[in-house]
Order: sequence, then C-alpha cells, then structure tokens
Amino acid sequence: MPEPKKFSKFRDVQAEIGRAGSAIFRDADGVESLVIKFPYSIDYIHSYAEDSAFFLGLAHGKLLGSKCTSPKCGFVFATPRGHCMVCGSPTDWFELPKKGRLHSWTTCHFGSEAFLKETPYNLALVEFEGADSVLLVRLKDCVESEIYVGMPVVARFSDKPKYLITDLWFVPDRS
Ligand SMILES: [Zn+2]
Repeated sequence: MPEPKKFSKFRDVQAEIGRAGSAIFRDADGVESLVIKFPYSIDYIHSYAEDSAFFLGLAHGKLLGSKCTSPKCGFVFATPRGHCMVCGSPTDWFELPKKGRLHSWTTCHFGSEAFLKETPYNLALVEFEGADSVLLVRLKDCVESEIYVGMPVVARFSDKPKYLITDLWFVPDRS
C-alpha cells in the first residue's frame, strides 16, 4: 500500500482524500497528521423549543426578532431570544424589517458541512432600524471587493424551507 501523500494546505488534503481516501496534513509547526475519510451519518432529532416561531417564520418569509417585555428595559434583539439577555424578562416576538445595513462581515474559506459547497462564503452581521442587536447571516450574490460596512442589504428566504438557518440569507440591496 503506498504511503499517503503529504500536504501543507488543508484544501489540498481534502482534494487528495476525495481521490485517495487518505492524506497527511503537515501543519505550520511541522506536525503531521494522518487524515482519512469514512461514511458517517446520523438522524439528529432537535427541538427548537422557544425559538420555534423564528424558524416557522422563515418558512413564511418572515424575519422575527424578540423584544424584552420589561418596561424598564425593552431591549430589542434581532435574534430569537426566549428571555432578555440584559434583564432576564420574557420577550415578545415582532417582525424585523427585511432590509438592514451591514455592521461587519468576514469571508470564510472553510465551513461546517452545510456550507462546505459554498466556500468561500461571506458571513455578515446585519443591523436593523429599531433593533439593539445584530443578526449573524450569510451574505450572498456579491464578491468580497464590493462589500463595505454600512452596505444596504435585504433578506432572502428559501422557497423550499427546511426549518434551518440556511432558509435565510441576505443579498446587497440594489433597489
Ligand atoms: Zn430586558
């Protein structure tokens, strides 16, 4: 059996594993790790519990935020929060605007399984009028060089929702 080939870029390791089933990754410190591929599959049964309305909303093209019910606090979250992270009071759902502005972003060259096919992809923090926090989402349909802080962005929803966060992404608002 031939020895696995060595690579210093993990992208090359992934490509070699696709061809040969194994490879050796040599990291920046010179440490070498044997990397292999094998099938792995589980059915994961997950409850969204108090976040359920958020994912049901995405399936209907609605972006829900959560608002603290305490009159003394009233913090407005651009994310699903069953309870206020500032004062601990229960929250109420409300519909966020579909348009916002880019607070910050990063371009990811690696990702978890759901995003591997999309790499490199952009992860963005979006600000909304009337919300005190930001939402972490993917930013699609643009190249890195045209992205800037403050860029107007608009929500897009999957027409085949799977009740996953991937049912939602943002694109530049070119209207
Ligand atoms: Zn609060």
